[in-house]
Amino acid sequence: AAFLEILKACHTRELKREEIIRLLSTSEDAEMTAMFSEANTIRQARLRDFFCIHGIVEFSNYCVRNCLYCGLRRDSKNVRRYRMTPDEIVNSVYDAVNHRGYKLIVLQSGDDLSYTNEILSGIIRKIKEKCKVFIFMSVGERTSEGYRKMKDAGANGVLFRFETSNKALYHSLHPGQSFDDRIALLMEMKKMGYFIATGFLIGLPGQTVEDIADDIITIKSIGANMVTAGPFIPTDTTPMAVHPAGSAAMTLKVTAVSRLLMPKAKIPVTTALETIENEEGRRLGLSSGANSLMFNLTPEKYRGDYRIYPNKYHGKEEIWEKYGLYKETLSYKMLEKKMAEAFK
Ligand code: SAM
Repeated sequence: AAFLEILKACHTRELKREEIIRLLSTSEDAEMTAMFSEANTIRQARLRDFFCIHGIVEFSNYCVRNCLYCGLRRDSKNVRRYRMTPDEIVNSVYDAVNHRGYKLIVLQSGDDLSYTNEILSGIIRKIKEKCKVFIFMSVGERTSEGYRKMKDAGANGVLFRFETSNKALYHSLHPGQSFDDRIALLMEMKKMGYFIATGFLIGLPGQTVEDIADDIITIKSIGANMVTAGPFIPTDTTPMAVHPAGSAAMTLKVTAVSRLLMPKAKIPVTTALETIENEEGRRLGLSSGANSLMFNLTPEKYRGDYRIYPNKYHGKEEIWEKYGLYKETLSYKMLEKKMAEAFK
Protein backbone atom coordinates (compact mmCIF):
# COMPACT_ATOMS: atom_id res chain seq x y z
CA ALA A 1 0.00 0.00 0.00
CA ALA A 2 1.04 3.59 -0.46
CA PHE A 3 2.75 5.24 2.49
CA LEU A 4 -0.05 7.70 3.24
CA GLU A 5 -2.67 4.95 3.10
CA ILE A 6 -0.78 3.00 5.75
CA LEU A 7 -0.72 6.11 7.92
CA LYS A 8 -4.48 6.42 7.55
CA ALA A 9 -5.09 2.71 8.13
CA CYS A 10 -3.64 2.81 11.62
CA HIS A 11 -6.79 4.64 12.76
CA THR A 12 -9.07 1.76 11.84
CA ARG A 13 -7.05 -1.43 12.12
CA GLU A 14 -3.82 -3.04 13.31
CA LEU A 15 -0.93 -2.44 10.94
CA LYS A 16 0.65 -5.52 9.41
CA ARG A 17 4.31 -6.34 9.89
CA GLU A 18 5.07 -5.48 6.22
CA GLU A 19 3.37 -2.12 6.65
CA ILE A 20 5.42 -1.35 9.74
CA ILE A 21 8.55 -2.27 7.81
CA ARG A 22 7.45 0.07 4.98
CA LEU A 23 7.00 2.95 7.45
CA LEU A 24 10.36 2.34 9.08
CA SER A 25 12.13 2.03 5.73
CA THR A 26 11.31 5.45 4.36
CA SER A 27 13.99 8.04 3.92
CA GLU A 28 11.81 10.45 1.92
CA ASP A 29 11.50 13.81 3.64
CA ALA A 30 7.84 14.22 2.72
CA GLU A 31 6.92 10.76 4.05
CA MET A 32 8.85 11.25 7.27
CA THR A 33 7.25 14.65 7.86
CA ALA A 34 3.80 13.14 7.25
CA MET A 35 4.49 10.27 9.67
CA PHE A 36 5.88 12.48 12.44
CA SER A 37 2.98 14.84 12.10
CA GLU A 38 0.46 11.97 12.16
CA ALA A 39 2.09 10.62 15.33
CA ASN A 40 1.98 14.04 16.92
CA THR A 41 -1.69 14.44 16.00
CA ILE A 42 -2.52 11.04 17.52
CA ARG A 43 -0.64 11.98 20.70
CA GLN A 44 -2.59 15.22 20.98
CA ALA A 45 -5.93 13.56 20.23
CA ARG A 46 -5.45 10.59 22.57
CA LEU A 47 -3.43 12.03 25.43
CA ARG A 48 -4.32 15.72 25.16
CA ASP A 49 -1.97 17.54 27.48
CA PHE A 50 -0.80 14.49 29.36
CA PHE A 51 2.89 15.03 29.66
CA CYS A 52 5.27 13.38 32.03
CA ILE A 53 8.56 14.49 33.55
CA HIS A 54 10.70 11.70 34.99
CA GLY A 55 13.77 11.94 37.16
CA ILE A 56 16.48 9.30 37.20
CA VAL A 57 18.86 8.53 40.05
CA GLU A 58 21.76 6.35 38.88
CA PHE A 59 22.81 4.89 42.18
CA SER A 60 25.55 2.40 41.28
CA ASN A 61 27.70 1.75 38.20
CA TYR A 62 28.91 -1.70 39.30
CA CYS A 63 27.69 -4.49 37.05
CA VAL A 64 28.03 -8.28 37.01
CA ARG A 65 27.01 -8.51 33.32
CA ASN A 66 29.20 -8.04 30.32
CA CYS A 67 26.90 -6.62 27.61
CA LEU A 68 29.17 -5.84 24.68
CA TYR A 69 27.86 -2.31 24.07
CA CYS A 70 27.70 -0.97 27.62
CA GLY A 71 30.31 1.20 29.31
CA LEU A 72 29.36 -0.24 32.72
CA ARG A 73 30.12 -3.82 31.63
CA ARG A 74 32.11 -5.94 34.08
CA ASP A 75 35.23 -5.89 31.90
CA SER A 76 35.21 -2.11 31.32
CA LYS A 77 38.46 -0.87 32.82
CA ASN A 78 39.18 2.73 33.75
CA VAL A 79 35.67 3.16 35.08
CA ARG A 80 35.61 4.78 38.49
CA ARG A 81 33.01 2.64 40.18
CA TYR A 82 30.71 4.06 42.85
CA ARG A 83 27.81 2.99 45.01
CA MET A 84 25.43 5.44 46.67
CA THR A 85 24.44 4.57 50.21
CA PRO A 86 20.78 3.86 50.93
CA ASP A 87 20.57 7.21 52.73
CA GLU A 88 22.06 9.07 49.77
CA ILE A 89 19.54 7.42 47.45
CA VAL A 90 16.58 8.17 49.71
CA ASN A 91 17.70 11.78 50.17
CA SER A 92 18.15 12.39 46.42
CA VAL A 93 14.63 11.18 45.79
CA TYR A 94 13.25 13.05 48.76
CA ASP A 95 14.79 16.30 47.53
CA ALA A 96 13.50 15.85 43.96
CA VAL A 97 9.98 14.99 45.07
CA ASN A 98 9.48 17.28 48.03
CA HIS A 99 11.41 20.31 46.80
CA ARG A 100 11.23 20.12 43.03
CA GLY A 101 7.88 18.52 42.41
CA TYR A 102 8.92 15.28 40.68
CA LYS A 103 6.23 12.60 40.74
CA LEU A 104 8.01 9.76 38.98
CA ILE A 105 11.50 8.58 39.78
CA VAL A 106 13.58 5.86 38.16
CA LEU A 107 16.17 4.16 40.40
CA GLN A 108 18.78 2.75 38.03
CA SER A 109 22.05 0.86 38.40
CA GLY A 110 24.18 -1.75 36.73
CA ASP A 111 23.20 -5.29 37.70
CA ASP A 112 24.74 -4.77 41.15
CA LEU A 113 23.73 -7.64 43.38
CA SER A 114 25.52 -6.17 46.39
CA TYR A 115 22.26 -4.27 46.86
CA THR A 116 20.31 -7.28 48.06
CA ASN A 117 16.56 -7.49 47.57
CA GLU A 118 16.22 -6.59 51.26
CA ILE A 119 18.38 -3.48 50.88
CA LEU A 120 16.47 -2.31 47.79
CA SER A 121 13.12 -3.03 49.44
CA GLY A 122 14.27 -1.06 52.49
CA ILE A 123 15.17 1.91 50.29
CA ILE A 124 11.81 1.78 48.52
CA ARG A 125 9.96 1.55 51.83
CA LYS A 126 11.83 4.55 53.24
CA ILE A 127 11.11 6.65 50.17
CA LYS A 128 7.43 5.74 50.29
CA GLU A 129 7.25 6.66 53.97
CA LYS A 130 8.72 10.08 53.27
CA CYS A 131 7.03 11.09 50.02
CA LYS A 132 4.34 10.49 47.46
CA VAL A 133 6.07 9.30 44.31
CA PHE A 134 5.80 6.67 41.60
CA ILE A 135 8.96 4.51 41.78
CA PHE A 136 10.41 2.68 38.78
CA MET A 137 13.16 0.12 39.38
CA SER A 138 15.78 -0.31 36.65
CA VAL A 139 18.20 -2.73 38.28
CA GLY A 140 18.42 -5.52 35.73
CA GLU A 141 18.02 -9.24 36.13
CA ARG A 142 17.19 -10.53 39.60
CA THR A 143 15.04 -13.37 40.80
CA SER A 144 11.29 -12.93 40.44
CA GLU A 145 11.22 -13.36 44.22
CA GLY A 146 13.36 -10.21 44.45
CA TYR A 147 10.96 -8.29 42.22
CA ARG A 148 8.05 -9.55 44.33
CA LYS A 149 9.74 -8.18 47.47
CA MET A 150 10.33 -4.79 45.84
CA LYS A 151 6.72 -4.69 44.68
CA ASP A 152 5.53 -5.44 48.20
CA ALA A 153 7.77 -2.65 49.48
CA GLY A 154 5.96 -0.20 47.20
CA ALA A 155 7.79 -0.17 43.84
CA ASN A 156 5.36 0.70 41.05
CA GLY A 157 7.13 0.08 37.76
CA VAL A 158 10.15 -1.45 36.10
CA LEU A 159 12.28 -0.02 33.33
CA PHE A 160 13.66 -3.16 31.78
CA ARG A 161 14.53 -3.37 28.09
CA PHE A 162 14.71 -6.65 26.17
CA GLU A 163 17.36 -4.80 24.05
CA THR A 164 16.59 -6.68 20.80
CA SER A 165 13.98 -9.22 19.80
CA ASN A 166 16.43 -10.91 17.42
CA LYS A 167 17.46 -13.85 19.60
CA ALA A 168 20.73 -14.61 17.80
CA LEU A 169 21.72 -10.94 18.03
CA TYR A 170 20.66 -10.82 21.70
CA HIS A 171 22.84 -13.82 22.53
CA SER A 172 25.84 -12.44 20.63
CA LEU A 173 25.70 -9.19 22.65
CA HIS A 174 24.88 -10.58 26.11
CA PRO A 175 27.35 -13.31 27.10
CA GLY A 176 25.85 -15.66 29.65
CA GLN A 177 22.33 -14.22 29.40
CA SER A 178 19.22 -15.72 27.84
CA PHE A 179 16.64 -13.83 25.81
CA ASP A 180 13.87 -16.21 26.88
CA ASP A 181 14.76 -15.73 30.57
CA ARG A 182 14.70 -11.95 30.16
CA ILE A 183 11.26 -11.98 28.51
CA ALA A 184 9.95 -14.51 31.05
CA LEU A 185 11.05 -12.23 33.90
CA LEU A 186 9.40 -9.25 32.21
CA MET A 187 6.13 -11.20 31.91
CA GLU A 188 6.33 -12.18 35.58
CA MET A 189 6.83 -8.54 36.57
CA LYS A 190 3.77 -7.68 34.54
CA LYS A 191 1.76 -10.35 36.33
CA MET A 192 2.91 -8.93 39.66
CA GLY A 193 1.27 -5.66 38.65
CA TYR A 194 4.33 -3.64 37.75
CA PHE A 195 3.87 -0.80 35.29
CA ILE A 196 6.08 -1.97 32.39
CA ALA A 197 8.55 0.23 30.53
CA THR A 198 10.46 -1.77 27.96
CA GLY A 199 12.15 -1.46 24.62
CA PHE A 200 15.31 -1.89 22.65
CA LEU A 201 18.47 -0.42 21.16
CA ILE A 202 18.59 1.05 17.67
CA GLY A 203 21.67 0.59 15.49
CA LEU A 204 23.03 -2.70 16.84
CA PRO A 205 25.48 -4.58 14.56
CA GLY A 206 23.62 -6.47 11.87
CA GLN A 207 20.21 -5.25 13.11
CA THR A 208 17.75 -4.98 10.21
CA VAL A 209 14.65 -2.88 9.73
CA GLU A 210 12.68 -6.16 10.01
CA ASP A 211 14.26 -6.70 13.45
CA ILE A 212 13.18 -3.20 14.49
CA ALA A 213 9.62 -3.86 13.29
CA ASP A 214 9.65 -7.05 15.40
CA ASP A 215 10.99 -5.07 18.37
CA ILE A 216 8.05 -2.67 18.21
CA ILE A 217 5.59 -5.55 17.74
CA THR A 218 7.17 -7.26 20.77
CA ILE A 219 6.65 -4.18 22.95
CA LYS A 220 3.02 -4.04 21.90
CA SER A 221 2.43 -7.75 22.45
CA ILE A 222 3.94 -7.55 25.93
CA GLY A 223 1.33 -4.89 26.64
CA ALA A 224 3.94 -2.40 27.84
CA ASN A 225 2.77 0.87 29.33
CA MET A 226 5.87 2.75 28.30
CA VAL A 227 8.08 2.43 25.23
CA THR A 228 11.78 3.07 25.63
CA ALA A 229 13.88 2.79 22.48
CA GLY A 230 17.09 4.69 21.96
CA PRO A 231 20.10 4.72 19.68
CA PHE A 232 23.17 2.68 20.51
CA ILE A 233 26.12 4.99 21.20
CA PRO A 234 29.68 3.62 20.99
CA THR A 235 31.78 3.64 24.15
CA ASP A 236 35.58 3.51 24.07
CA THR A 237 35.92 1.00 26.92
CA THR A 238 33.83 -1.66 25.13
CA PRO A 239 34.35 -4.13 22.27
CA MET A 240 31.89 -2.02 20.25
CA ALA A 241 33.97 1.17 20.46
CA VAL A 242 34.19 1.60 16.69
CA HIS A 243 30.70 0.47 15.75
CA PRO A 244 28.72 3.49 14.43
CA ALA A 245 25.97 5.02 16.58
CA GLY A 246 22.31 4.33 15.85
CA SER A 247 20.70 7.04 13.76
CA ALA A 248 18.54 9.86 15.04
CA ALA A 249 16.28 9.49 11.99
CA MET A 250 15.58 5.83 12.77
CA THR A 251 14.99 6.71 16.43
CA LEU A 252 12.38 9.28 15.42
CA LYS A 253 10.74 6.83 13.02
CA VAL A 254 10.58 4.27 15.84
CA THR A 255 9.03 6.90 18.13
CA ALA A 256 6.40 7.77 15.53
CA VAL A 257 5.55 4.17 14.61
CA SER A 258 5.29 3.27 18.31
CA ARG A 259 2.79 6.12 18.74
CA LEU A 260 0.80 4.93 15.70
CA LEU A 261 0.62 1.40 17.14
CA MET A 262 0.23 2.33 20.81
CA PRO A 263 -1.74 5.60 20.89
CA LYS A 264 -1.94 5.78 24.69
CA ALA A 265 1.52 4.56 25.64
CA LYS A 266 3.96 6.77 27.45
CA ILE A 267 6.88 7.41 25.16
CA PRO A 268 9.83 9.30 26.59
CA VAL A 269 12.50 11.02 24.54
CA THR A 270 15.49 8.91 25.54
CA THR A 271 18.67 10.50 26.87
CA ALA A 272 20.61 8.75 24.08
CA LEU A 273 18.63 10.65 21.43
CA GLU A 274 19.34 13.88 23.27
CA THR A 275 23.01 12.91 23.34
CA ILE A 276 23.35 12.40 19.60
CA GLU A 277 21.14 15.38 18.68
CA ASN A 278 21.86 17.75 21.57
CA GLU A 279 19.08 20.17 22.43
CA GLU A 280 17.27 19.41 19.20
CA GLY A 281 16.68 15.81 20.29
CA ARG A 282 13.97 16.81 22.72
CA ARG A 283 12.11 19.05 20.31
CA LEU A 284 12.30 16.44 17.55
CA GLY A 285 11.21 13.60 19.80
CA LEU A 286 8.29 15.55 21.22
CA SER A 287 7.11 16.47 17.74
CA SER A 288 7.21 12.84 16.59
CA GLY A 289 4.89 11.25 19.12
CA ALA A 290 6.88 11.23 22.36
CA ASN A 291 5.21 12.64 25.45
CA SER A 292 7.73 12.62 28.23
CA LEU A 293 11.21 13.68 29.21
CA MET A 294 13.75 12.34 31.63
CA PHE A 295 15.95 14.54 33.81
CA ASN A 296 19.08 13.38 35.56
CA LEU A 297 18.96 13.61 39.35
CA THR A 298 22.16 11.70 40.10
CA PRO A 299 24.28 13.75 42.53
CA GLU A 300 26.93 15.78 40.69
CA LYS A 301 29.84 13.93 42.23
CA TYR A 302 28.74 10.61 40.70
CA ARG A 303 27.14 11.73 37.44
CA GLY A 304 30.24 11.68 35.27
CA ASP A 305 31.05 8.14 36.35
CA TYR A 306 27.72 6.65 35.22
CA ARG A 307 29.15 6.31 31.79
CA ILE A 308 26.95 3.89 29.86
CA TYR A 309 28.23 5.85 26.84
CA PRO A 310 30.32 9.03 26.57
CA ASN A 311 29.11 12.65 26.64
CA LYS A 312 25.77 11.69 28.08
CA TYR A 313 23.36 14.58 27.76
CA HIS A 314 22.52 15.93 31.18
CA GLY A 315 19.20 17.62 30.57
CA LYS A 316 19.94 21.28 30.29
CA GLU A 317 16.72 22.57 31.71
CA GLU A 318 17.47 26.19 30.74
CA ILE A 319 17.62 25.19 27.10
CA TRP A 320 14.28 23.50 27.36
CA GLU A 321 12.92 26.73 28.72
CA LYS A 322 14.57 28.80 26.01
CA TYR A 323 12.74 26.80 23.37
CA GLY A 324 9.46 28.35 24.46
CA LEU A 325 8.38 25.03 25.99
CA TYR A 326 7.77 23.44 22.64
CA LYS A 327 4.78 25.58 21.93
CA GLU A 328 4.05 23.86 18.68
CA THR A 329 3.76 20.35 20.09
CA LEU A 330 2.27 20.65 23.54
CA SER A 331 -0.03 22.98 25.35
CA TYR A 332 2.04 25.90 26.49
CA LYS A 333 0.02 26.32 29.63
CA MET A 334 0.43 22.75 30.72
CA LEU A 335 4.16 22.67 30.19
CA GLU A 336 4.59 25.96 31.93
CA LYS A 337 2.84 24.57 34.95
CA LYS A 338 4.94 21.41 34.91
CA MET A 339 8.11 23.42 34.46
CA ALA A 340 7.28 25.59 37.41
CA GLU A 341 6.63 22.51 39.51
CA ALA A 342 9.67 20.59 38.42
CA PHE A 343 12.33 23.25 38.48
CA LYS A 344 11.45 25.81 41.09
N1 SAM B 1 21.39 -2.89 34.48
C1 SAM B 1 20.02 -2.60 34.19
C2 SAM B 1 19.55 -3.40 33.01
O1 SAM B 1 20.40 -3.98 32.31
O2 SAM B 1 18.33 -3.46 32.78
C3 SAM B 1 19.74 -1.13 33.99
C4 SAM B 1 20.89 -0.24 33.62
S1 SAM B 1 21.38 -0.36 31.91
C5 SAM B 1 22.87 0.58 31.90
C6 SAM B 1 20.18 0.68 31.11
C7 SAM B 1 20.12 0.64 29.60
O3 SAM B 1 21.24 1.30 29.05
C8 SAM B 1 20.14 -0.70 28.94
O4 SAM B 1 18.87 -1.28 28.95
C9 SAM B 1 20.67 -0.40 27.54
O5 SAM B 1 19.65 -0.42 26.57
C10 SAM B 1 21.22 1.02 27.67
N2 SAM B 1 22.61 1.10 27.15
C11 SAM B 1 23.67 0.42 27.57
N3 SAM B 1 24.74 0.72 26.80
C12 SAM B 1 24.34 1.62 25.88
C13 SAM B 1 24.99 2.29 24.80
N4 SAM B 1 26.27 2.09 24.52
N5 SAM B 1 24.25 3.15 24.06
C14 SAM B 1 22.95 3.36 24.34
N6 SAM B 1 22.29 2.75 25.34
C15 SAM B 1 22.97 1.88 26.10
